[in-house]
Formats: sequence, C-alpha cells, structure tokens
Amino acid sequence: MNMKYTMDMKYTIDKQNTLNTGIRRKIAILGSTGSIGTQTLEIVRDNEDLQVMALAAGGNVELMEEQIREFKPKLAVMWSEKAAADLKQRVADLPVRIAHGMEGLLELAVLPEAEVLVTAIVGMIGIKPTIAAIEAGKTIALANKETLVCAGHLIMSLAKERGVSILPVDSEHSAIFQSINGEPKNRISKILLTASGGPFRGRTLEQLRQIRPEDALKHPNWAMGRKVTIDSSTMVNKGLEVMEAGWLFDVKLSDIQVVVHPQSVIHSMVEYVDGAVMAQLGTPDMKLPIQYALFYPDRRPMAGRRLDFYELGQLTFEKPDLETFRGLKLAYRTGEIGGSMPTVFNAANEKAVSLFLENQIAYLQIPEIIEACMQQHKVMENPSVEQILQAEEETYRFIMEQFQKKA
Ligand code: NDP
Repeated sequence: MNMKYTMDMKYTIDKQNTLNTGIRRKIAILGSTGSIGTQTLEIVRDNEDLQVMALAAGGNVELMEEQIREFKPKLAVMWSEKAAADLKQRVADLPVRIAHGMEGLLELAVLPEAEVLVTAIVGMIGIKPTIAAIEAGKTIALANKETLVCAGHLIMSLAKERGVSILPVDSEHSAIFQSINGEPKNRISKILLTASGGPFRGRTLEQLRQIRPEDALKHPNWAMGRKVTIDSSTMVNKGLEVMEAGWLFDVKLSDIQVVVHPQSVIHSMVEYVDGAVMAQLGTPDMKLPIQYALFYPDRRPMAGRRLDFYELGQLTFEKPDLETFRGLKLAYRTGEIGGSMPTVFNAANEKAVSLFLENQIAYLQIPEIIEACMQQHKVMENPSVEQILQAEEETYRFIMEQFQKKA
C-alpha cells in the first residue's frame, strides 16, 4: 500500500469533515515577509476561512508586492518611507492603502476589520503595536518573544484587564499551552522546556572560539530567521523562551526546567502536582503551532509529515551545559532580577548578534557583551514602554562605545 497516498487521502477527508462555519477569521500580520510570517501565509493559503486584512514588513518590497497580489489585504505597511513609496508605485493598480513607520504599524495593530494580530516581527519594535492591539481588543497570536521578555509586566496585565487572549506561536510555548489544555494553575508543578541544544551541543568553550556566522546559521532541526538561529546556537533563545514562558503561564523561573532533547520531537512538557507529565510531540514544523494559535480552540487537519514511532528509535535527554552556553545562565539571572534587566539582556544580545553576523566580534563575545551590559545597568522596576525603549537605546550606545570600535 502506498503510505503517502493514504495519508494525503486521510488529510483530504479530515479537511472536508472540518466544521466550517462559513465565518472567515480575519487576521493582520506584523512581519509577513519573515520566516513565521510566510509560514502563516501558507496556512492562510490552505484554509479558505482565514482572510488577510493587513500585512507589515521591514524592507522586502518585492515579497510584499507578491503577498499583496495574492492575499489582497486592505492595508500594507513598510518600515521605511522609501520602501513604502516604492511599494505604492508597484501596487498602484490595487485598492490597498500603503503606510509606513511606527504610525503604520499602529494603524495595522488596531485595524477594525482584523480580529487576530500575528506578531511575527523581530525585536522590541513589536511592543507598541502589541499593546495597541490589546487595547483594541484583538486576539494576539504571539511569535515575537522579545515583546513579552521586555514588557511582559505591561502586556500580561493589560491583556487580563481587557480579557484578550495571548496565544503562543513559539513551538515550545504552544506545546506547554496544549499540555496545560485548560488545567488550573495550582495543579502545575513545573514546566519542562525542551531545547535541541543547537548545532554546537557537546562542544567545549575552546571549540566555540573559532565559530563563524556560517557555522552558527546551520540549525540541526528547525529552519528559522537568522537572528533566532544564532540565538538557538548560543542557547540565548532558550533563555528568552524561559522568560517568555514565565510571563505566559505565570510561573516562577525556578519552576521552569530546560531539558536538552536533541531530536526536537517533544516540543515541551508540563509536570503536574501528582507527578503526571503531559507532553506535546510532533515533527519540527512551525506551521502546527501557528495554525493552532490561529484556530484555537479548534484543531484543524494539516498536511505534512507525521511522527513515525517505528522510525523514531531513541529519544534522549540531557542537562544543559550552562558553563559553555552562558547565555542561558545569564537569562535565568536576568529573569530573576526582572524590571528593565530583560530589556538590557535582549538588546545586548540583539546588537551582539548583529555585530557577530557582520564579522565584527567573535562568537564567544556574544555572552561577554550581554554580561558587560548587565553589569553596568541600573535596574528600573516596572519600566514603562518609554523606559524600556530608553534602556534599549542606552544598551546599544554602550555596546557601540565599548565593543564596536575595538573590532
Ligand atoms: P525573520 O527575521 O525571518 O522575519 C522578521 C520579519 O519582521 C520580517 O517580515 C521583517 O521584514 C519584519 N521586520 C523587521 N523589522 C521590521 C520593522 N522595523 N517594521 C516592520 N517589519 C519589520 O524572523 P522570524 O520570522 O524568524 O522571527 C520573528 C519572531 O518570531 C522573532 O521574535 C522570533 O524570536 C520569533 N520566533 C521565530 C521562530 C521561527 O521559527 N522563525 C520560532 C519561534 C519564535 P523584512 O523581511 O522586510 O525585513
């Protein structure tokens, strides 16, 4: 029997059996040209009852034009005025409004026609639009982890106040969300956040000294954007995820345990007070958590590879090496300090990663720079958005003065 044919047939039947209410779920995407953004659009392509109302990107005008022609949003936003002007000319034949800059992102975030905002932008630039969308009552499908890491105290309390759902897109957080599946918080004993360990798992500090950008850009299991791929290799990404999980699920960081699981089959787990552990497993495909967030609480059929337990063989687990991958250790320290420190951690990492990608600093300088920035920072408790952005700015300035000119 042809297995693939059978699976495809099953998918088609499941799809036909899906309850289709005839109502279209209207979405806006911040960061539509990136890795998460384009995968979100693949899901839209596959589900007639999703409708794209607005798209935003940084500078990729060509891809934005293609996306506008295919998905026909009412609003498209480019970060720079120049890119927006170029786009306007390219799509002059279409009834789409073109905007730019933060004003444009905020317009997209509160667009009355959209119900769900997918935050697939990279960096702290996502904070203001996410807050604006929550204030306007939009459901947030959150991929942009930096937003929660730096402004979790503002975002989670605002979402609670407005009765807005923040649905995780990150695969680990989606796995935790699926494993909790409505259980009350007091039944949870701890969260087990899995990590692949990245391409350098098992290496020594000495071996990491010579790592070049092209080595770090190869992730063993996941295809992602450049920054998040480097963050995975340093395990800073896992550190950001620990802080993100703390906010999303309202758990202490000491109750979040990182478990290195190189096969990336178990996407994360939750241990309950009676010792039971619930896990979500699957192939490493970001489309599953994206789709889950878009249709929550529904679960839709999805084409693609399935786990084959006969083929899987072994699943293995290890303790993370916090001495070699110091970024993770620093992240725990950062999360415990709280206030404006997560912003400094995140900003320092963002800048250090971009300097590393430009070959201006060595790989091991990434955690060094983060630590140096943390040491010189005077923590502000409960920072406002302006204070967060100020801490980001100061961190960038410090790095420029201390590290960039020495490169
Ligand atoms: P990418 O770098 O692939 O994409 C980033 C997107 O943001 C692009 O569309 C980019 O546009 C856009 N963008 C950047 N700056 C601006 C700006 N100033 N204004 C408007 N748009 C902007 O990132 P990823 O998709 O990998 O990651 C997005 C977020 O999701 C990150 O926070 C990441 O940590 C998180 N995440 C990613 C995962 C993944 O598998 N990739 C997994 C889990 C979380 P342009 O292309 O035009 O520059």
